[in-house]
Amino acid sequence: MKQEILKLGAKRVLIQLPEGLKQAAPRLAKIVEKAGALPIVSADPCYGACDLATTDAENLGVDMTIHYGHSKMVKYERVPTVYVEARATVNVNDVAQKALPLLQKWQRIGLATTVQHVQTLDVVRELLTRAGKTVIIGDAGHLNYPGQVIGCNYSNARSIAKDVEAFLFIGGGQFHALGVALSTSKPTIVADPYAGTALSIDKEAEKIVKQRWAIIEEARKATTLAVLVGLKPGQKRLEEALEVKKKLEDKGKTAFLIAAEEVTPEALMEFPTIDAYVNTACPRISFDDASRFKKPVLTVNEALVVIGALSWEELCRRGLLES
Ligand code: SF4
Repeated sequence: MKQEILKLGAKRVLIQLPEGLKQAAPRLAKIVEKAGALPIVSADPCYGACDLATTDAENLGVDMTIHYGHSKMVKYERVPTVYVEARATVNVNDVAQKALPLLQKWQRIGLATTVQHVQTLDVVRELLTRAGKTVIIGDAGHLNYPGQVIGCNYSNARSIAKDVEAFLFIGGGQFHALGVALSTSKPTIVADPYAGTALSIDKEAEKIVKQRWAIIEEARKATTLAVLVGLKPGQKRLEEALEVKKKLEDKGKTAFLIAAEEVTPEALMEFPTIDAYVNTACPRISFDDASRFKKPVLTVNEALVVIGALSWEELCRRGLLES
């Protein structure tokens, strides 16, 4: 980080951190100061590497952004950006051991994790191999590390889905493990080193599949739809939004474009005459906040099912989270 500051000759640096890691800000600010630049910490929420504070960086006239906690996602940054990946030091051996009985039925196991734990995959692979399993770690070439997943990209897991019977996900919470299950349609066990637990995520995934089907059915009645365009640098898919809008109109629907930095239930409530939304921003908004939205918020592929351009079976085959 210090070298990058010196290399760029940066005099003013914006530090951006995700929730949960913001407490590292003073330590990073000190490092920036010692490198001879003025640090400015962003207090705004940051949900992923898609969420680069480019406009804020420009407004503040910084020479460089330090984006902490995520690996690079946006290809071309308007402000030079250095990514500092946070690595967890928590031991995963015990939870991987706990996962073994849950993996008993299956022989071929795929491994997946987030960038915080990619360094543990070799150890877990060895542990499973010693237990007689065949372990596969996918690398589709779209993310920084084999086996890595991010909230909206499970290409590594999908690339091996046909070769494995189940997945073991290493990491905290259900968010990414659910993504693995929904993207691969394979049984998925999550070994959570923070909670110290290993459990199956399949019931939760089934519940979401049923919920998505119900939302699609409800959206079939919609006559007026809005296509949501995300304004965060890694979420803006205007071309795709225009294509969906046209497809909806070709099927006799009325369709508008609505752009938003944050797609929230409160923001959408301001448009009572819209019957349903098609979300081209962060696909997880449709899934994770589904029960909070008063109207259906479809992914692009779900919208295609609504207008008959894609079958539900094909959508499930592609993976519900794929776009
Ligand atoms: S688009 Fe959504 S899921 Fe993907 S990185 Fe951004 S916040 Fe995470």
